[in-house]
Amino acid sequence: MTRRAPNNLTPAGTWANAALCRYDDPEIWFTDATEHDARLVCGWCPVRQHCLDEAMAAENGLGTSSRYGVYGGLTGKERAKLAARRRKLAPVPPPAPATGQATEPCGTPAAYRRHFRRKETPCEACRTADRVARYDRMDRAKTRAS
Ligand code: SF4
Ligand SMILES: [Zn+2]
Repeated sequence: MTRRAPNNLTPAGTWANAALCRYDDPEIWFTDATEHDARLVCGWCPVRQHCLDEAMAAENGLGTSSRYGVYGGLTGKERAKLAARRRKLAPVPPPAPATGQATEPCGTPAAYRRHFRRKETPCEACRTADRVARYDRMDRAKTRAS
């Protein structure tokens, strides 16, 4: 009996063909009492990393109690711990812009000034917008003077 690939996500004819658990009773991977045996087989499995990666992806966001069976040599509890460790190591996303202050789209004089406030180099669209605004101001000044 062939053990189902992690959560049935693995298409037939891929790495799952090389899975060592194909030759055993799949129950071994889902019974607490045989956990040790399952781990032993996983330890020799040539596609262990692939199996683990796929299980981690398929179980993304799930809690410990929703991770069943041994995959890639790890129990559900161990995979939940691994997921928590990876979350901790993941890069922190940049802070969202402060709310309440509307963000001007690039290509406007306001966005050009915002680049400076943030100590950024203004982008091409903003530099152009600033130049156009400046020429407009000069034109108006000239018209007033004449
Ligand atoms: S690592 Fe273990 S569960 Fe995964 S394919 Fe290999 S034997 Fe099966
Ligand atoms: Zn810009």
